[in-house]
Amino acid sequence: MKIIDGKAISASVRKTLIGRAADFEKKYGRKVGLSVVKVGANPASEVYVRNKILACEEVGVKSFSYNLPEEVSERELLELIDALNDADDVDGILVQLPLPSHINEKKILARITPEKDADGFHAVNAGGLMLGLPCTKPCTPAGIIELIKSTGETIAGKNAVVVGRSNIVGKPCAMLLLAENATVTICHSKTSDLASFTRRADILVAAVGIKQFVTGDMVKDGAIVIDVGMNRNEGKLYGDVDFASVSKKASYITPVPGGVGPMTVTMLLKNTVESAFRCKEN
Ligand code: NDP
Repeated sequence: MKIIDGKAISASVRKTLIGRAADFEKKYGRKVGLSVVKVGANPASEVYVRNKILACEEVGVKSFSYNLPEEVSERELLELIDALNDADDVDGILVQLPLPSHINEKKILARITPEKDADGFHAVNAGGLMLGLPCTKPCTPAGIIELIKSTGETIAGKNAVVVGRSNIVGKPCAMLLLAENATVTICHSKTSDLASFTRRADILVAAVGIKQFVTGDMVKDGAIVIDVGMNRNEGKLYGDVDFASVSKKASYITPVPGGVGPMTVTMLLKNTVESAFRCKEN
């Protein structure tokens, strides 16, 4: 069994991005810009936003940070997004989720112009993914594909099973695996006899949100196992995969932490840098 080292793979992608960001600056006389909007003081969001801003610094992307109070109105947030959509030095906009309950998340995400949708959550980008058009891909699924490719194994023709069908992880991950010519099955909470599906997976992606949900008896010998889960319990981070039992069966496995997580932030930067070039070149 080999560990897929998300930190190392992420570092190598970031190295390429440093060069791309520098090329952009040389060519267009300004840095690539990413706006990061946070509302309220959710402790997990604080950590995610801090990591994203540090990653911008590392790669040479300028971050514009907006920390809005919990009680900010939906109208004020929409006005900020309108201003960022129009700003010439902003290439990517990210609104950290979740938002407070008085704000309609769908309405906010829909307001971001698709060209600056760094997270790839806008319906235009989701539709592009579905239709195989050039589009910004959601960061976590895009990172998962990079991690699978890093093994050197071919994806085409493999049985891929994705457990989870959320709009940000499960569904787009399944679409990306399909685009790589895997035969894809999506499982969810209403799937009967889940293990009968997971045991057939050459590539198994667990995006369930339940600590150590996938156990060794659910996994085929030699499978590539990608653990998306980030479940916090008494200050410790656990994946959706029971590493101890699954690592005995898998050929490759991502650890938690240090697997999918670092790639997600890196893909956000990649999306922003690529959007910056696309906007200038189209
Ligand atoms: P959601 O809660 O939105 O979706 C979870 C999915 O799992 C749903 O589709 C749900 O099915 C399915 N599910 C729940 N229980 C079961 C079950 N018993 N059997 C089979 N399927 C089940 O979560 P996300 O997709 O947003 O995130 C999944 C995990 O990934 C979380 O741990 C999250 O923290 C983590 N995550 C990690 C990221 C990273 O960068 N590493 C980024 C984003 C998420 P149904 O649709 O039927 O309810």
